[in-house]
Amino acid sequence: MDLQKIEAGVKLILEGIGEDILREGLIETPKRVAKMYEEIFSGITRDSKKHLTKTFTVDNNEMIIEKDITLYSMCEHHLMPFYGKAHIAYIPNEKVVGISKLARTVEVFAKRPQIQEKLTCQIADAIMENLNPLGVIVAIEAEHTCMTMRGVKKPGTKTFTFVCRGEFEKNADLKNTFFNIVK
Ligand code: ZN
Repeated sequence: MDLQKIEAGVKLILEGIGEDILREGLIETPKRVAKMYEEIFSGITRDSKKHLTKTFTVDNNEMIIEKDITLYSMCEHHLMPFYGKAHIAYIPNEKVVGISKLARTVEVFAKRPQIQEKLTCQIADAIMENLNPLGVIVAIEAEHTCMTMRGVKKPGTKTFTFVCRGEFEKNADLKNTFFNIVK
């Protein structure tokens, strides 16, 4: 990541809104923002494979649900945060991953410029590709600050997205079980 470019960009934004970039409170801001972006966009150069390929063998293929995974991401249309919870369930095909790996997978894709719909799909597809389960479902509920602090200004409004793959696409009972547990 090119931190100098980010710094230069933040300086231009501050000048653009009519601020004095040399005043005390702002002088270090471009540097701070660049450092922060390095962290919150660190998913761009990371691969979810790393977290999903270390698996354990099981002989019981019952649904595994991980709910309330805290999620922070950045809306790619406004570069404003959106945040909320992700819920994931999958039906193993004799292979499972350590529970924390699902949260790591969410993080890899959340720490990029994103839209919630794409984020939901990318998590589901990464689990399907790397873990090869019989099915996966990913649901995300999030508040978008680009919507709640500007424009339509409806604080508390949540956007809900979900994606089903494999068995979850065919079996409504499975889907209902998942939504009953995560709601
Ligand atoms: Zn937005």
